[in-house]
Amino acid sequence: MKKIDLHTHSTSSDGTLSPSAIIRMAESLDLAAVALTDHDTLDGIQEFLSAAKQSKVKAVPGVEIASTWNLREIHVLGLWVDHANSELGELLKKIRGNREKRNYEMLEGLRKSGFDITLEEVKNEAGGDVIGRPHVASLLVKKKYFKTIKDVFGSCLARGAQNYVSRILPEIAEVISIIHNAGGIAIWAHPVHRNKSNCTNVKSDIIHFISLGLDGIEAYYPEYSEKQHKMLLKYASELNLQITGGTDFHGEILPSISMATGRGNLSIPETVYTELKNYHLKQFKRL
Ligand code: AMP
Ligand code: MN
Ligand code: MN
Ligand code: MN
Repeated sequence: MKKIDLHTHSTSSDGTLSPSAIIRMAESLDLAAVALTDHDTLDGIQEFLSAAKQSKVKAVPGVEIASTWNLREIHVLGLWVDHANSELGELLKKIRGNREKRNYEMLEGLRKSGFDITLEEVKNEAGGDVIGRPHVASLLVKKKYFKTIKDVFGSCLARGAQNYVSRILPEIAEVISIIHNAGGIAIWAHPVHRNKSNCTNVKSDIIHFISLGLDGIEAYYPEYSEKQHKMLLKYASELNLQITGGTDFHGEILPSISMATGRGNLSIPETVYTELKNYHLKQFKRL
């Protein structure tokens, strides 16, 4: 059976492959389907969809939006969103505005800490509309302040580190509802990622998000232990939720994660895509 990857980033946000190069790589890996889920932008979707027309790979237009709930940061994937939807476009524009304010303050802080770095340089590094911490980190590595991007996050950019600056995030309820209005389905991305959660509270969080309209959870992800993966599959089945899977591929900026296989051993079957696609079609009554 063929494999899929429903969580990737391109040069439109903080990835290093263009949207059409994402399709070419998916094709060379013989994937059945791939989703482009850039942070806070739909800029790459047109190029992504037109590249997919010349290929056998099924392309899912998507977006990843960081939201807030209960003082926590919850990442939501919108899959099959209409990239021309104006309400979603306005929300993303507002989010990018808050990101720009954050970037400005973060760079001021970095300069105060003695790093020679300007917004202009980071903009050149990013290329696209969405400038993120990985671009800042990559530049600090190029300027030889640090050896790796991971080191930059560890010493200054990760949450809690000395130059971390938070940004204003939309409420998860608003994000889910706008994704639905744009024809998409809303997925909780990496519910147990990086916070080292042991899943104990995850189930009650999922139940709450279902009441806000959540459609599914990312049950395959490179950072999960086997136990976490199985737990998420079990919750999805108990709660009648959809499941998705993806690697969070970013290209060379996060070189330890490969498309489709993650750290080398991830394998997301095509059936995950087929079931999700059927759910999406039913949801929007196009069957
Ligand atoms: P931003 O959206 O600008 O706040 O930056 C967040 C992005 O930084 C995430 O989407 C990841 O691509 C990357 N990231 C977050 N934490 C780390 C980390 N500890 N090491 C490397 N990259 C990270
Ligand atoms: Mn990223
Ligand atoms: Mn994320
Ligand atoms: Mn991501």
